[in-house]
Amino acid sequence: MNGGQGALGGRPPGEAGPVQVRATVLTVRRVDAYHALTLVAPAIAARFRPGQFITVAVGGPETSMLARRSFAVQDVRSDHGGTVEFVFETRGPGTRWLAGLRAREVLDVTGPLGRPFPLPKDPSSCLLLGVGYGCAPLFALAARLRERGSSVDFLLGAQRADRVFGALTARRSGRSATVTTSDGSFGARGAVTDLLEQVIREARTDVVYASAPVPVLREVTALAGKYDIPVQASVDLSMACGIGICLGCVLPVTGTDGITRMLRSCVDGPVFRGDLVRWDDVGTIPFDALGAPGWPRTLGEPREPPRDRGVAPPGHQSHHAG
Ligand SMILES: Cc1cc2nc3c(=O)[nH]c(=O)nc-3n(C[C@H](O)[C@H](O)[C@H](O)COP(=O)(O)OP(=O)(O)OC[C@H]3O[C@@H](n4cnc5c(N)ncnc54)[C@H](O)[C@@H]3O)c2cc1C
Repeated sequence: MNGGQGALGGRPPGEAGPVQVRATVLTVRRVDAYHALTLVAPAIAARFRPGQFITVAVGGPETSMLARRSFAVQDVRSDHGGTVEFVFETRGPGTRWLAGLRAREVLDVTGPLGRPFPLPKDPSSCLLLGVGYGCAPLFALAARLRERGSSVDFLLGAQRADRVFGALTARRSGRSATVTTSDGSFGARGAVTDLLEQVIREARTDVVYASAPVPVLREVTALAGKYDIPVQASVDLSMACGIGICLGCVLPVTGTDGITRMLRSCVDGPVFRGDLVRWDDVGTIPFDALGAPGWPRTLGEPREPPRDRGVAPPGHQSHHAG
């Protein structure tokens, strides 16, 4: 693949698509309960937009771990020609292997993948909500939003203090930063959703950007919906190929035409308009989804289209500049 720098996919010339690179590890650091891994990957850094992710081959050349592992990009920097950092928790064999890497080792990385967070066209009051490692991709987004004149409030949560990622940075860089932990070891005791409405009211939020487990995204969408506030939700569903081929990461999303389609979170997401996702049906193929058994019977009866609250669905982001 062109010396390991081959562009993936059939994008028009000039549009920067993902690349597959052999990236040198710069550092692997412990950050509380997580590891932060920084790679030298100029081609990925140059193409990255907040909300996108990378996939990493794990286990070395003779591994049985065939599936790449997906990670949200936390940040990119210009040093060493361009670096990419991601934050992860050790979970199973792949992340344990990553945590054992040392500087100067080489990783096979593909990215940036997926659709980034759409940005508001006009300066807005943006609430960035994250849970656990889901907080990591919010900081590059915050920088981009501030550059464009928007204000940023953070609402970060986790089970316990050492799993709240980036609280200090949030306090330094956000207009406000609210932290919750389930055990009360840092910030307010409880869940992010317990304080969401209060923060929305105090910050006069125009749009919520959320990166959290599906049940939290579902609740955030419902709560923000009470105030008619759009939610851009970044989902983290089990994912195998990361490039749209295996269909392992699909979820049901209703289009503005009222028709539910099974979209791939790797290429149609991972960021979706919250009110279009059928959160209660994630993990299933609803009977009325396009192509599901029984679809022809319901062809003439699409679900009631959701009201457009001013934030474009995936693939229709025309009023957002990237
Ligand atoms: C778009 C996206 C962004 C992500 N960003 C991060 C991040 O920033 N930090 C982080 O710690 N984790 C992130 N994850 C989850 C991360 O991919 C898994 O924790 C990792 O694949 C687990 O690999 P493992 O071998 O250690 O564990 P195992 O549980 O043994 O994983 C085996 C396989 O299961 C799948 N898998 C397991 N858990 C998950 C999960 N939660 N999400 C998706 N696939 C999973 C993967 O396909 C993996 O190949 C993200 C996942 C997605 C889809």
